[in-house]
Amino acid sequence: MPTLVSSCKDPGIHPKAVEKAKKAIPSAQCVNRASSLLKAVADPTRLRMLAALAKTELCVCDLSAVTEMSESAVSHQLKVLREERLVTFRKEGRIAYYRLLDNHVTVYKRQFWDIELYPQQPKLVTQ
Ligand SMILES: [Zn+2]
Repeated sequence: MPTLVSSCKDPGIHPKAVEKAKKAIPSAQCVNRASSLLKAVADPTRLRMLAALAKTELCVCDLSAVTEMSESAVSHQLKVLREERLVTFRKEGRIAYYRLLDNHVTVYKRQFWDIELYPQQPKLVTQ
């Protein structure tokens, strides 16, 4: 039975494993983008807004009613979500209707909710 080595003093690293693992790490640009995206959704309020917007497009006052937050608070959170290209909007007269921007969000959203179903080991799928 192999013994667990808790320090890195053992000079015998596993070159193949290291090489394989290194190749699995995406470019710095990809990692930074993913990190930034995850920060944007790592907020209960914004997750609730994304869940609502995944169902239907909503204006700021609708979102305010749905989340029971002030319109200015909703606007602030929408700005964060817009900057991360998670949501977009269309204008109809003077009213802006917000919706999820693309399929990625739907994929992410579904996986976030799946975590609740599989609490032991959430899976992160990279493409
Ligand atoms: Zn409105």
